[in-house]
Amino acid sequence: MKLTFDDSVEAFRREFLDWLADNRPTDAEMAADPALSSAHLPAWAKAWTRRMFDAGWLVPSWPKELGGRDAGPVETLVYLEELTKAHIPRTTNPQGLGIVAPSILDYGSPEQIERYAMPILRGERAACLGMSEPGAGSDLAALSTRAVLDGDHFVVNGQKVWTSGANYAEFCFLFCRTDPSAPKHKGISVVLVDMDTPGITVRPLPEIVHPDKPDLNEVFFTDVVVPAENLVGQMNNGWAMANGSLAHERGMVWLNGVLMLEESMVKLLAEAPEALDRLPAQERAVAADQLVTSYIDSVAARCLGYRGFAKLVRGGSAPEQALMKAFSSEAGQRMAMRAAELMGDRSLDLGHDQAVAMGMGITSWMERYFGTFGGTISAGSSEIQRNIIAEKVLGLPRS
Ligand SMILES: Cc1cc2nc3c(=O)[nH]c(=O)nc-3n(C[C@H](O)[C@H](O)[C@H](O)COP(=O)(O)OP(=O)(O)OC[C@H]3O[C@@H](n4cnc5c(N)ncnc54)[C@H](O)[C@@H]3O)c2cc1C
Repeated sequence: MKLTFDDSVEAFRREFLDWLADNRPTDAEMAADPALSSAHLPAWAKAWTRRMFDAGWLVPSWPKELGGRDAGPVETLVYLEELTKAHIPRTTNPQGLGIVAPSILDYGSPEQIERYAMPILRGERAACLGMSEPGAGSDLAALSTRAVLDGDHFVVNGQKVWTSGANYAEFCFLFCRTDPSAPKHKGISVVLVDMDTPGITVRPLPEIVHPDKPDLNEVFFTDVVVPAENLVGQMNNGWAMANGSLAHERGMVWLNGVLMLEESMVKLLAEAPEALDRLPAQERAVAADQLVTSYIDSVAARCLGYRGFAKLVRGGSAPEQALMKAFSSEAGQRMAMRAAELMGDRSLDLGHDQAVAMGMGITSWMERYFGTFGGTISAGSSEIQRNIIAEKVLGLPRS
């Protein structure tokens, strides 16, 4: 079976590729000034976001005034695929562009949109997402960070954890408990908190591969004063916002997983012959068999992704997204582990020359392997995805 796109979609692809050729940041620019966390905006990233916004290529499905061109979902698919193939990040603040800005556009006041959402879209400010806490991750509704309304301001006390990019973000989209007496899903609100407000302490968490370049953080709030006008949407309506926020890019999340798998496969197939030659015959056969299994995984992931995507485009809901999230993140982990085993000590090379030469998605196998653990946890762990599959796909009773 050969899948092809309509002529109009191919024309859209060509238009984007032509624009990209003239406007993309260069590998040298990106390598000389890399993003240090997921809310760090190097100079090239600010300029790149602004160019995409002005040309309507930032979020093609949005209207022109928000940096888009009213493109349909299939065009968006093609756009994301080409951008990823070119090894260019759409943004160095994925939580800001993917979740925070669209949530403010959906629920925020005109002033909040002007002050907080639009600067993200123009590449001027970066945001972090304050949801998870030590006692509230998968069970987000258990969060206990308190925001108490006191006249014209809230006073915030509590702690967040695993906050990507909080060490560089200029503001936080912060989920707080505003009514402790209400059932736990009903007493949550969101406030916008400038990260330089007195009483905020950010403690970066060292990571195993690059302890000197942390992205995840603990964030402590002690009597932090937040203007009442920074409440986003209605008081105690935060749960609806949590679901709305996370749904924003869910429809396309599978594509990143698929492209990462396919890109890894290309790298692995290029490196494998030499590594296989070094193995004794019996081990070679087993390793070759594992390579084929990984290849099948990458093809299966694309087919599964298209199936869920087609359902979404036809207007249906697609619980397949949960299947894709669990499958592609775990398949990526299996592939990276097999590659690391096959390459032996060469998989430990953390040098970045090759990464830069081959684009941002390619790093050493060992680094990639460690990185895959985050993918199986963030945005809903594999176990949570399996619960969704059990209930919504298989129709099993709630656990
Ligand atoms: C790379 C990365 C980036 C992140 N960025 C952010 C961010 O920017 N902002 C933010 O707020 N958070 C962020 N997080 C946090 C992330 O959302 C949480 O780690 C995730 O929701 C899991 O919560 P937890 O770590 O508290 O684990 P827990 O919820 O405590 O889970 C522990 C274990 O129990 C399992 N488990 C939990 N509940 C169930 C259940 N009902 N059934 C079966 N098994 C279950 C889980 O799968 C897991 O294996 C990030 C995490 C990672 C890894």
